Amino acid sequence: MRGGNNPDTNTEREINMTCTACNGRTRKTEDIQIRICEDCGGLIGTVRRGDLHNHVDTRNWANEDIEQDRVRYFDLKVLGSNGVVRIHGWYDLDTKRIVQMG
Ligand SMILES: [Zn+2]
Repeated sequence: MRGGNNPDTNTEREINMTCTACNGRTRKTEDIQIRICEDCGGLIGTVRRGDLHNHVDTRNWANEDIEQDRVRYFDLKVLGSNGVVRIHGWYDLDTKRIVQMG
């Protein structure tokens, strides 16, 4: 068996992004363009407009009484028909709804 198709080897050249919230190390997810911070759990990366709500539901606000330990940072570049828009803030890990923008 040869290891030529090992995805870990093939993505080594990828930039080792750090978290824009805490400067922590980020790790890969199933979605190659999205990384998760190992320290704060922040979501960092690039997403197509149509896929955004699979990660962060920007259409809805989270409940105000959300537990602080369920809140995660996000910093995403959203690729849409009118270019790239960067959005960042905090979201509810369980519902993916927005807690705070910016
Ligand atoms: Zn972080």
